[in-house]
Amino acid sequence: MANNKGRSGRPYRRLRAELKAQGLPCWLCGQLIDYDLPYPDPWSFSVDHVRPVSKGGASVDPDNCRPAHLQCNQRKGDRSRPVVKAVVFSTSEAW
Ligand SMILES: [Zn+2]
Repeated sequence: MANNKGRSGRPYRRLRAELKAQGLPCWLCGQLIDYDLPYPDPWSFSVDHVRPVSKGGASVDPDNCRPAHLQCNQRKGDRSRPVVKAVVFSTSEAW
């Protein structure tokens, strides 16, 4: 057994590798992830945090991390922002 002392590999990298090794489907849409796809691909693998790091979630805690498609991860991120699409014009002018 090798005694891994010191900074041999960042925890986050290791976490990614562990998730990859499990080969689980995307936890957001339930579809399989092609773990061989390169990063910018919308269907590539990304680490999603169940509790956002900005809200106190652990960034390298396996319990807080789930595999997700890059696009699903991004879509989820968008949802946390209030989307104001329907602009209601109040017609104050009476005919
Ligand atoms: Zn997905």
